[in-house]
Order: sequence, then structure tokens, then C-alpha cells
Amino acid sequence: VTGADHETDVAVIGAGQAGLSAAYFLRRAGLDFAVLDHGKRAGGAWQYRWPSLVLGKVHGLHDLPGMALGTPDTTRPASEVVSEYFGRFERAYDLPVRRPVDVLAVRPASGDRLLVESAAETWSVRAVLNATGTWDRPFWPRYPGQESFEGRQLHTADYTGAADFRDKRVVVVGGGTSAIQQLIEIAAVARDTTWVTRRPPVFREEPFTEDWGRAAVAKVDAAVRAGQPPASVVSVTDLARTPEVVEAERAGILDRLPMFDRITRTGVHWPDGTERPADVILWATGFRAALDHLAPLHLREPGGGIRMDGTRVVAEPRLHLLGYGPSASTIGANRAGRSAVQEIRRLLAPARSRTA
Ligand code: FAD
Repeated sequence: VTGADHETDVAVIGAGQAGLSAAYFLRRAGLDFAVLDHGKRAGGAWQYRWPSLVLGKVHGLHDLPGMALGTPDTTRPASEVVSEYFGRFERAYDLPVRRPVDVLAVRPASGDRLLVESAAETWSVRAVLNATGTWDRPFWPRYPGQESFEGRQLHTADYTGAADFRDKRVVVVGGGTSAIQQLIEIAAVARDTTWVTRRPPVFREEPFTEDWGRAAVAKVDAAVRAGQPPASVVSVTDLARTPEVVEAERAGILDRLPMFDRITRTGVHWPDGTERPADVILWATGFRAALDHLAPLHLREPGGGIRMDGTRVVAEPRLHLLGYGPSASTIGANRAGRSAVQEIRRLLAPARSRTA
């Protein structure tokens, strides 16, 4: 008797690609589990992606295990298509997804148990598969003068389409795919745009291959095995030079500038004294792993990362991080779900046979 509101073998936190993949393999393994997700509906973080991110513009979505996405209309918003697909998947496998449940903390409990807490309820479990993604932790770099800027500042996560930028002078910060896609959309309606990145962008000419993907994943895997914070898989695969990008290069939209050194009341300023006026600064500066609720487990290494062995946290083997580091892609998330459940079965087997 644990005193918790619920007792089960495994809690899966997050119902995105990684959490649903894990839930599928837990179901197949015949384990007791609950999936806790703070989204309003099915779809993981995809449900929040901006409406102009249509399916034809995403890198590619890997199927969830056991159910193909099929060939949906590529002009539909990815947010809608993925929400429908994940919803279908949850129903088909009768997955016990509870939402909205916002997990606030995971802490060690007595015996071999971990306690998972929301504001209203607690779950006593033997293992946690954490699959909380990154969407809830948008990363905003800090620059001097930022608070004094009189225009609007927003993050990729707040972007809902180009209409808000009509006739505005817009500075877009960041060198990833989202930065480029949003910049191109905004440039079509804005008065002017300025693109700034820390490093010169690197565009990939040749098509994306599996070997390329494997090499990128291996790089991130090596970092998290050493306890360093992960770079996202997408960030180490370089930028695709799509026909849209070539067109934008020709139009001068992608004439990138180095980072400014400070922000003024009315714009941005570079070390050589140059200034550009701006009405809006869009921070397309990425995301970090949303792991605040794991703080009571004290997992961080001095370098700021969490030391991992595959999906398993070295310092807390009852905890796996799915969609973290090397598995932060739809294909990686699937694999992470399968391999984590294999390990969890082994972890729980002695306890189960003792009680049998
Ligand atoms: P998510 O989909 O983020 O799911 C996490 C879930 O956890 C969410 O439902 C969230 O509500 C829930 N959650 C978070 N915190 C809590 C909490 N404390 N309590 C309860 N629930 C919580 N990858 C690709 O492979 N192809 C692409 O084309 C691609 N495009 C991308 C485009 C953008 C703009 C971004 C930001 C990422 C993209 N990625 C892409 C990477 C993508 O994030 C992953 O591929 C994958 O979808 C992530 O799945 P996930 O299950 O790890 O996380």
C-alpha cells in the first residue's frame, strides 16, 4: 500500500510519437501502465504547430508502430493530420491516455517505487518512461537591452502565420529549418526582413540519406552518453536546399547577417555600430528538453546534461528518456519506445515473479 491515488507498473509521461510508441509496446508486453499527457487532445506537440506548416513542408513523419499514416493530402496542416492519426492510434490500441494531466514532479518513493505527481493526483509506479518532448521549453537567448525593446518579441512556438507581420520590419533570429520557413513566409508580406544567425548556415545539396541520418544520430548519442546536453537531431542534419530556399536566396531573403550584440528600444545593433530598426523580433532559436518535473531526481551532470545509456538514465535505471537526444525525431522516438520497453520488462521481471 503506497498511499498514492493510483498504482501501476509504468507511467508514460507525454503522448507524442515517443510516448505512444512506448504505450504500444507496453500493451504488447502485457504490462500495467498509464499515459499522462497535458495536451488538450491527441497529437503531441504537433497539435501546436502553426497552420501554414503543411504536411508537404515537414522533414517527414515516421509511422507509429503497427499503423501506417497512409498518404494524407500534403496541403493539409501537419497539426491536423497528426492529431487525427494519433487519435486513431490511441483508439485502435485502446491506450489508457489520461489528459489533460500536467505532471509536476517525479520523485523517489519508498521501496522500489517512484511517485509521479500532478496538482490533483499521484501515481505510484515501478518505472517511468518520460516522453515530454521539447515544445514546452522554448529557448530564448538573452541579449543586452532586450527588455527595453518597444516592439514585439515572439518565439517560433508563438508563431501562427505571416499575417501578423504585414508591413512590419522584422528581425528573424536562428539558423534552423523553422527560422527559414517562417522567414520566407514573413518576407512575402513584411516591409523588410533581416535574418541573423550565430553561425553561417550550411545547406545540404544532396538528398537526405539513411547513412547521413545514422551519422547525425551517432553524434548526438555520443554527447548524451558523456552527460552533455543534446543538440537536436534535426539541428545536426544541416538545412535542405529546397526549391523554395533557392528562390528565397535569389530574392535576397536569405542574405544572412551575424548576430547583433545588443537590442535597442527601436531595433538591433552590431558591434561595428550598424543598427537596423525593427518592429518585431522573432526568436526562432529552438527548444530544450522539457524535463523540469524530473528535478527532484537530481539527474543533471556538471556539464548540464543527463548521462544516458541508450534511453536509460545511468543514475536512475527505472527512468528512461524517450525522444531525448538521439531519439528526438519521429523515427528515433519509435525505436526508443521499443527498446525502452524491452529493458523495462527485464527490470520488472524479478519483482513480478517474486509476487507470483
Ligand atoms: P512531443 O510530440 O513534443 O510530445 C510530448 C508530449 O508530452 C506532448 O503531448 C506534451 O503535451 C506532453 N508533455 C510535456 N510535458 C508534460 C508534462 N509535464 N506533463 C504531462 N505531459 C507533458 N521530427 C521529425 O522526425 N520530422 C519532422 O518533420 C519534424 N519536424 C519538426 C518541426 C518542428 C517545428 C519541431 C519543433 C520539431 C520537429 N521534429 C521533427 C522533431 C519532433 O519534435 C520529433 O520528431 C517528435 O515529433 C517528438 O515527439 P515526442 O513524442 O518526443 O514529443
